[in-house]
Amino acid sequence: MCGIVGYIGTAQAAPILLDGLSKLEYRGYDSAGIAVYDGKEIHVKKAAGRLKVLSELTHDGATMPGTLGIGHTRWATHGSPSDINAHPHYNKGETITVVHNGIIENYLKLKKKLQDKGYEFLSETDTEVLAHLLDYYYKGNPIEAITKVMHRVEGSYALGIIFKEFPDTLYAVRKDSPLIVGKASDGNLIASDVPAVLKYTREVYFIQNEEIAALKTDSIIFYNVDSEEIQKTSTTIEWDINAAEKAATSISC
Ligand code: GLU
Repeated sequence: MCGIVGYIGTAQAAPILLDGLSKLEYRGYDSAGIAVYDGKEIHVKKAAGRLKVLSELTHDGATMPGTLGIGHTRWATHGSPSDINAHPHYNKGETITVVHNGIIENYLKLKKKLQDKGYEFLSETDTEVLAHLLDYYYKGNPIEAITKVMHRVEGSYALGIIFKEFPDTLYAVRKDSPLIVGKASDGNLIASDVPAVLKYTREVYFIQNEEIAALKTDSIIFYNVDSEEIQKTSTTIEWDINAAEKAATSISC
């Protein structure tokens, strides 16, 4: 555990990511990070410690321009709480960037396979396996790469993923870790929990196990683990934001 936020739209992503992560602080965390795509490069900033450290590092997001981004608060399960182990993680060349909540149970086996194929690991996390495995399976179709990874990994995950070759799409998938999609007027969001998106929208899709979402600024397409498109119905959240935040404080990772 513990928190994921993602945004694609017409507004600047970084301030939305930092704001969303602040709404997930109740879940507990030891480090935080964001990745923002400016259309040329995917820029990553991450740091052990409180969200405040990341906010200061990025001048409240101002130093990271771009309208597509993913953010993460980490509750370390594999590897110490350090800058290097903080998410996002990425492949060589930083063309695929991932945030992950959960635990990849068979990561050692996968890490060995990838190392044998020449992949180099920077962190001690189970999560980094996902970035390299996506790279291994990626042949130009993100959904195909994501479903191949889903078939290979054992454990729990909620993921936000950016592919450099797809600057207009934010990918998300989950199994046994929470993830929702919010449909807003100036873009779309992903988050671990509803309070992170309530400032922007009340229209939410609850992602079920092994469902994938591909979000663009003005559309959301859902897929199953066989890469087939599926239809989902959104829910209108009726709670008020203060009540939601109060309720949220009683839950933790
Ligand atoms: N297992 C991952 C790690 O230790 C993700 C932890 C989380 O859910 O924050 O980095």
